[in-house]
Amino acid sequence: MILPIYVYGQPVLRKVAENVTKDYPNLEKIIADMWETMEKSDGVGLAAPQIGKSIRLFVIDASHFAEDDPKTEGFRKTFINAQILSREGEEVLFNEGCLSVPGIREDIKRPSIVTIRYMDENFVEHEETYDGIRARVVQHEYDHIEGKLMIDHLNPLKKTLLKRKLNDISKGIVDVNYKIRAVK
Ligand code: ZN
Repeated sequence: MILPIYVYGQPVLRKVAENVTKDYPNLEKIIADMWETMEKSDGVGLAAPQIGKSIRLFVIDASHFAEDDPKTEGFRKTFINAQILSREGEEVLFNEGCLSVPGIREDIKRPSIVTIRYMDENFVEHEETYDGIRARVVQHEYDHIEGKLMIDHLNPLKKTLLKRKLNDISKGIVDVNYKIRAVK
């Protein structure tokens, strides 16, 4: 089932999300719906707060980037109860977009290497270190379960310039080809 995507202004996007257990109601279905929703909206990643659930869950399909970064080939993963253990390396710029902030793309600076501990959809624990685009996408999605958005990384001037656009998004005044849920 394709779910509406909660956009900027929705309080759920600002909450630090909670861990989940295997017996969380309909977890399997939620994960399947998130995959379907991400694919239909051409997203690279989708975090549970973006579908209105404040739980530590996100899905990533970075395989579209295989031409730019071969390590993303087949990178399709579900992350449950993720914790970033360390961020290292040079801070690098990369042009990001977000399904919850439609119509805005900005160069965002983030560390280039990240080590993360998470459970997959079978609740098997993993600890992995990523660089390149994988590190980028993982940090973007991880922000969502920490109640952060990419625009939080912009300097105050940039933020001021985006104020009107953000205000429109929060009211649902935005041209998108997927279903959104704005505050009003
Ligand atoms: Zn996002």
